[in-house]
Amino acid sequence: MNSPLPASPARSDPLARIRRDVQGMHAYAVQDAAGLVKLDAMENPHTLPPQLARALGERLAQVAINRYPGPRVEDLKTALARYAGLPEGWALMLGNGSDELIGLLAMACDVPGAAILAPAPSFVMYAMSAQLQGLAFHGVPLTDRFELDEAAMLDAIEQHKPALLYLAYPNNPSANLWDAGAMARLIAAQTAQGGLAVVDEAYQPFAAHSWIERVRQEPAGADSVLIMRTLSKYGLAGVRIGYLMGQAELIAQIDKVRPPYNVSALNAECALFALEHADEYARQAAQVKAERARLLAALAQMPGVTAYPSQANMILARVPDAARAFAGMKARGVLVKNVSAMHPMLANCLRLTVGANGENVQMLTALQACL
Ligand SMILES: *Cc1c(COP(=O)(O)O)cnc(C)c1O
Repeated sequence: MNSPLPASPARSDPLARIRRDVQGMHAYAVQDAAGLVKLDAMENPHTLPPQLARALGERLAQVAINRYPGPRVEDLKTALARYAGLPEGWALMLGNGSDELIGLLAMACDVPGAAILAPAPSFVMYAMSAQLQGLAFHGVPLTDRFELDEAAMLDAIEQHKPALLYLAYPNNPSANLWDAGAMARLIAAQTAQGGLAVVDEAYQPFAAHSWIERVRQEPAGADSVLIMRTLSKYGLAGVRIGYLMGQAELIAQIDKVRPPYNVSALNAECALFALEHADEYARQAAQVKAERARLLAALAQMPGVTAYPSQANMILARVPDAARAFAGMKARGVLVKNVSAMHPMLANCLRLTVGANGENVQMLTALQACL
């Protein structure tokens, strides 16, 4: 027999079950780029030549999407290990983009009192992963030229003894590579206090150096080092493949936190195809680097604009009035990222993604017109 409904059922508030700090957060903002030249998210402007795109379509049609991702994911790990030149004794794990790996690292290191440390400004997900996992986050300001403040970083490592030290190499949004000596000393200090150092090489395809060279030269000092990469800036932002490399025992522990089947069979097949055509992607990266040089030269000629050195597929530029420049460029059909509000040091800064030649010409014209 049905029990009668209560006369006045208690009103439930589903939102009351959602964490207060989450309710207070802003969602990760993705700008609407419809109809605009999209130079806001460090995407590779180049697509596959038609013949390769057709071949990829045929490959993807063969994927057993009725099955959970299988051995092709292991094939992808092998291919990435070869591509990256995985150091002896190291292993590699995959993430659904490196954003997922950043979250998994916070989860894996979540013990009472654990902290994450990074220079500031840097990639927003380091602080966000700490917040979501309930870890402390400490951001140590860069110098006014966006270099590491080595003394302040060493003090912060000593004081907070962070579980994770993030060094984006090159950094986002400043686009520079850190001084290698300073970086080595920070990693040594982080290792000495028992923490892990994560070198985030999202922009490796466009950078002159990778920390993996160091690891190969001095493997003994690299037991606490993790190198994180992604295929997003390489040219597969839509495919969501990140990878984390480190000493095999360490990776085996972190990999336990990963949800099973986190990388889709389609994504894995697509990434394998791209790595088989690494020469095409290398050509694209070379074009981006050539365009970056042209953009830096043009920006240096613009009165009132300070463009900072770049080892990535983006350029950080300070302008007299970033809000005005951003709105003016958008009105002229070009979408960039106004990073002014991200950190006080970024006041009046725009982050310009390096696009294809025509896009960059349009971007420069638009910027010039609204300075
Ligand atoms: C873009 C970026 C990432 C995230 O890349 P996904 O693999 O697309 O999640 C990680 N780190 C830095 C520094 C980035 O700029």
